[in-house]
Amino acid sequence: MVTPFTYFDLVDAFAQPGCAICQLLRRDAERSLDALLYEYVNDPEVRAAFRARRGLCNEHSWQLASHTGNLLGITLLYRGVIDEVLTAFRQTLPQPGPVEGASTSGFHDLPRQAIHALNRALQPVRKCMICESLAGAEGQYLQVLSEYATDEKLLKAYRDSDGLCLPHFRKVLKATQAPDRSALLVSVQFAIWSRLYADLQEFIDKSDYRRISEAKGIEGDSWRRAIRGTAGEEGVFGKDT
Ligand SMILES: [Zn+2]
Ligand SMILES: [Zn+2]
Repeated sequence: MVTPFTYFDLVDAFAQPGCAICQLLRRDAERSLDALLYEYVNDPEVRAAFRARRGLCNEHSWQLASHTGNLLGITLLYRGVIDEVLTAFRQTLPQPGPVEGASTSGFHDLPRQAIHALNRALQPVRKCMICESLAGAEGQYLQVLSEYATDEKLLKAYRDSDGLCLPHFRKVLKATQAPDRSALLVSVQFAIWSRLYADLQEFIDKSDYRRISEAKGIEGDSWRRAIRGTAGEEGVFGKDT
């Protein structure tokens, strides 16, 4: 469901560096990870979903690892995941026996079929829950931007921003049916990328020995804006989406 907050969130996010939708999704990912740790760690359904994915996707696993304020929450969730993978071993392989000449026990002569069964049982059986919630939020941002593309306030915020990243610009074009709104979005993004091109060129020109002593201006971080503008922010496009 689209809320009025989404519109104001977008207007505010355009004032931040980088793609507005990426910024909002990063915030949403942080909020979802907090909720996972503080509110849902004891929720059986969430714990089951976490086990089923064997944790989270690569991106969001590492984002979770930075939430060091709740290590017990992380530990409880991952005890469940490791239990899940050990259960896969127990359910698909013949029980381990003693290892000759050692005090440990291990698996012996495993047929290829058993290894295939183990491999299948280890495979995640659902998507990363953070990626899933971001996909829903992203759909809302795209819808609002598309619907309000003619709104003066939103349009001005977009025009004055670093623009959308390439993946989100393509997604909003796909989500926009009306030709007049599409034309506005295309015009704004074209102007932003044209300015960025000029900044990149200025950076290159100032690297020439005849201009090397000149002070750096806004072109100084153009290379970083170009990376952000093409790839989007880290952690926004999880491996499950
Ligand atoms: Zn983006
Ligand atoms: Zn994810």
